Amino acid sequence: MAEFARESDNKVNDYYLSVGSNLPIAERSPAAVLEAALEEFSATGLLAQGSVEIVSVSEIYRTPAWPAGHGPDYANQAWHIRSDHSPQVLLDRLHALEARFERSRERRWGARTLDLDIVLAVDSQGRSPVLPDRETVLRWMKLPRTEQMRCTPDRLILPHPRLHERGFVLVPLVEIAPDPVHPILGRRMVELLHALPPGETKAIRPWYAGPAS
Ligand code: ADP
Ligand code: MG
Repeated sequence: MAEFARESDNKVNDYYLSVGSNLPIAERSPAAVLEAALEEFSATGLLAQGSVEIVSVSEIYRTPAWPAGHGPDYANQAWHIRSDHSPQVLLDRLHALEARFERSRERRWGARTLDLDIVLAVDSQGRSPVLPDRETVLRWMKLPRTEQMRCTPDRLILPHPRLHERGFVLVPLVEIAPDPVHPILGRRMVELLHALPPGETKAIRPWYAGPAS
């Protein structure tokens, strides 16, 4: 098991994660991969050195792959956790968990077995950290689509620069956390969801209700 640096200042944050999978592993469907990842995430081994509490978890949703034609349907879910890990330490843990599920990073937006993103953090005073700074986050938020395909941030960006424009992130997130406010856009998650064009959400449905059309 990998050793992780202890980097906790005992500051507890609420973290909202967007979790996705669109490749089966062995006999497991993408939804079963998410269920197994949650089980593994809550297992003590990976989370030693620091506290992590799973507060709530959304339903699993089925979303057609984006860009269209890039593989099988995605299973998407939101996790709300509470932890004294710093955002960077938490992200390191999430990458370790991805690796245990055979995630490979060969292709940007390619099919993947497990993708774990931190989309938003909220501290105990209700403030959301903007990392590394507002200017950088804004630059990533404004990146044209063509550039988004080519560029990958090499450090943690919070809030996640695509949070406000992805139905597959906001639909599960609003189910469990409609009220947190985006620290740059100044709007609640449920408002961001309602502001999306209908095409962004119309094919999203509960995983266990059948294939997306
Ligand atoms: P994506 O999730 O955008 O499809 P990746 O999972 O390959 O792409 O992430 C690319 C890189 O983005 C990761 O190596 C990670 O360090 C970085 N990154 C920056 N901000 C975040 C964040 N809020 N959550 C997860 N990863 C992030
Ligand atoms: Mg990711």
